Amino acid sequence: MGIYLLPNEHLVLQGERGWLEWEEQVAEDYDFPYSWRGKTYFLTCNGNCPREKRPIQCRTFPLTPHFTGEGNLLLIWETLKLPYSCPLLVRKEPLATEFISTLYKAWQILTTDPLIKDLVNYDSRNRERATAVIEPVWPENL
Ligand code: SF4
Repeated sequence: MGIYLLPNEHLVLQGERGWLEWEEQVAEDYDFPYSWRGKTYFLTCNGNCPREKRPIQCRTFPLTPHFTGEGNLLLIWETLKLPYSCPLLVRKEPLATEFISTLYKAWQILTTDPLIKDLVNYDSRNRERATAVIEPVWPENL
């Protein structure tokens, strides 16, 4: 499975070689929000990246950001159908609160970027249309 990068995230990984393959694609050819136009970047990895270079999608898994219809940001369990079984996701293993709260803060910052906010909204509405099971994890006091 390729990993798509968030806007400008490729700048963090440019120059990286060996553990990843780059693909430059046209956003309009993929299932991205209307606001995503032009170049977008995918990478495929060898399963052994330098930990400090993990893309944001990998740092977020097995959770994913979700906007409610009222615009509230949640972290939920990933709902994507994956070609592999992840024990964390299957068993909904308890995750470290520090990991979850820090990740939430990161997505609060990331979603101040209009393109990233559009993406999270777009994925959230698609999830609802697909009647995926939305299981919130954070904030705690929902
Ligand atoms: S964490 Fe690293 S090795 Fe694992 S899928 Fe992501 S890029 Fe690949």
